[in-house]
Amino acid sequence: MLLTCENCETIFRIESAQLATAGQQVRCSVCHHVWAPDIEERANPDNEILRESLSVLRKPLLICALVIAAFSLLSFNRTLITAYVPSLIPIYDVTGLTIRPDISKLEVTDLKANFQGDTLRIRGNLSNKSALMTHAAPLQLSILDEDGVVLHSQRLTPDDAFIAARSATEFFIQLTIEDATQAEIRLEPLALRLTSSRP
Ligand SMILES: [Zn+2]
Repeated sequence: MLLTCENCETIFRIESAQLATAGQQVRCSVCHHVWAPDIEERANPDNEILRESLSVLRKPLLICALVIAAFSLLSFNRTLITAYVPSLIPIYDVTGLTIRPDISKLEVTDLKANFQGDTLRIRGNLSNKSALMTHAAPLQLSILDEDGVVLHSQRLTPDDAFIAARSATEFFIQLTIEDATQAEIRLEPLALRLTSSRP
C-alpha cells in the first residue's frame, strides 16, 4: 500500500502487513515526522488495489459510456438529426442506420382535384404536424372508381424534401384519365428509405 507523509508529502510504498495494528504510528524517513496513518487504509489493503485499478479504468470506461450514449442518441434521433443536417443521410445509410420519413408527423391537407374533360389535376399540401423540422415523404397516389377499382396508381414527390415545423410543402400532378369524374383520390405518405438529401 501507499502511505503519504502528512508533513512533507513524500509517498512511501510499504507492505500492508507492516501496519497490522490499529493506531500504529509510522515515522517518515525523510522529515522524521511521526503519525498514525488512516485506519481505513490499513483495515482494507485490497481497497487500494481496487481503487488504483478503478482509476486506471475510469477514463476508458467513461469514454466508452459516452461513446455508447452518443451513438444511441445519434441512432435514436437520426430521423430528426438528418432533417436538420441532410448531408448526414448518406453517412447514416452506409452504416446501416436507414433513414425513413416519419410519416406519423405528416398529413395531406388542402387536397384539390379538378377535372376538365379527361384531364385530372390534383394539388395539395403535405403538412408537418410536429413542432420540429421533418423529412417530406413521397406520396402514393391511387385513383379508384366508384366500385373501388384502381384506375391509376403512381408515386409523386412533393416540392420540398424537408418541411419546417407546422409548415407544409406543395404537390401537384396532372393526369389524363377517362370517365373518372366519380373517382376517389387517395394519397398516402410513404416511409421509403432515404439515401440522399433529395428523395
Ligand atoms: Zn515526511
